[in-house]
Amino acid sequence: MYYEGKTKIVKIVENHALIEFKDDITAGDGLKHDVMTNKGSICAETTAILMDYLSKKGIRTHLIEYVPPRTLKAVPLKMFPLEVVVRLKKAGSFVRRYGGVEGEDLPFPLVEFFIKDDERHDPMVCVDHLEILKIATKDQAEKMKETAVKATLALKEFFEKGGFELWDIKYEFGLDKNGEVVLGDEISPDTFRLRKKGEIFDKDVYRRDLGDPMKKYREVLELCRSLSLQ
Ligand code: UDP
Repeated sequence: MYYEGKTKIVKIVENHALIEFKDDITAGDGLKHDVMTNKGSICAETTAILMDYLSKKGIRTHLIEYVPPRTLKAVPLKMFPLEVVVRLKKAGSFVRRYGGVEGEDLPFPLVEFFIKDDERHDPMVCVDHLEILKIATKDQAEKMKETAVKATLALKEFFEKGGFELWDIKYEFGLDKNGEVVLGDEISPDTFRLRKKGEIFDKDVYRRDLGDPMKKYREVLELCRSLSLQ
């Protein structure tokens, strides 16, 4: 099996998946698109370090091993067509939808589900939609929510050690061959908002044309490398 998406190529080889991270960067439902040297390898290694950390915290991820420079060997999953966002602070589409000020604290981790569908601009849904649309059962949705919050609090603690603030993050989940819900896809500056004293270390640099995103992505990778050794 071979599948090519906007930023990754997935090949199923024997009983594992090889996920190759491309150098493409996109925003705005794929309308903004560029290719940036070494982005794939930076995001693949960052994902590997962070998923390895999460598995030490008791969270099941698809990661088997990092195959340098730009590939992850992973457990094959049947992916839910969903983005599961956890927010610790207000930003992005939360502020556009509900108002408030970027960077304001939320009183508890907010979990939102979005269906992956660029044509419909990734509509936000609740757990009842997921059941009615036969995307996930209530139990599976609860498991995704619980795992997403646990992972976010663990990553918040990880980044805090380097003086960074995790504002929000997006996860994707799938089912393994036993029907268990497992964390898949990637964890990188493409998929979270990370700030330090007002400085932006995530894809907002690209979304808002604030300079060279790869400079920041590389700094995040260096941070992950050093924090993972502590
Ligand atoms: N996100 C993502 N993929 C998407 C949409 C969002 O990884 O297709 C991440 C985004 O980088 C941020 C979080 O999910 O860390 C919340 O994004 P938000 O809903 O605020 O949307 P945005 O501001 O990107 O439109």
